[in-house]
Amino acid sequence: MRRIKMYDPLTLAYTRNYFFDELKSTSDSINSKTSLCVLLLDVDKFKEINDTFGHQQGDMILKKISDTVRNCITRNDIFARLGGDEFAIILPGTSVSDACHIAEKIRERIEAISCQTDAGVIDNVTVSIGTYKVNAGENIKQIIASADNALYCAKRNGRNKNIVFNDEYCAL
Ligand code: GH3
Ligand code: MG
Repeated sequence: MRRIKMYDPLTLAYTRNYFFDELKSTSDSINSKTSLCVLLLDVDKFKEINDTFGHQQGDMILKKISDTVRNCITRNDIFARLGGDEFAIILPGTSVSDACHIAEKIRERIEAISCQTDAGVIDNVTVSIGTYKVNAGENIKQIIASADNALYCAKRNGRNKNIVFNDEYCAL
């Protein structure tokens, strides 16, 4: 029963609830020697993919994106589908520069996805990513709000990019 609740049936990524439980425990345990980063990913203009190729092909793209992400992270990392076309990754013990390398690798590999369908080739899949380095003592609401803010910056600045949260240019 717990296994069913842990995984999203379409993408086999962890569920939203599992993600928040893990984020709470990993963020509660950070100290001055550990670094924890969180990435939020949202598919760019996913509605257009659904509208052009159909919902079933949209589902297939969500699966491909999930497989691509899994190939860019380690077993210690937590990859989850928060809902719809939004995903998140917890990167324990990861510096912000390493998190950016991972985010960039994910972004590039997703950009390279190409799928032949009856209605034509889908080769315009991109994601926007918000990266946030967690500070000790922050609660999950603050963490997600900051990562989401960075993601919003990435969307606003043209999509298909990773942006690290920065108080100055990501101010709400
Ligand atoms: P943006 O770049 O601003 O994120 O644009 P967008 O079109 O991706 O944004 P929006 O949030 O409006 O669209 C997300 C779409 O994802 C809308 C919804 O129909 C689709 N969606 C949500 N869940 C699923 C799913 O399980 N399968 C499929 N195929 N589509 C889904
Ligand atoms: Mg989207």
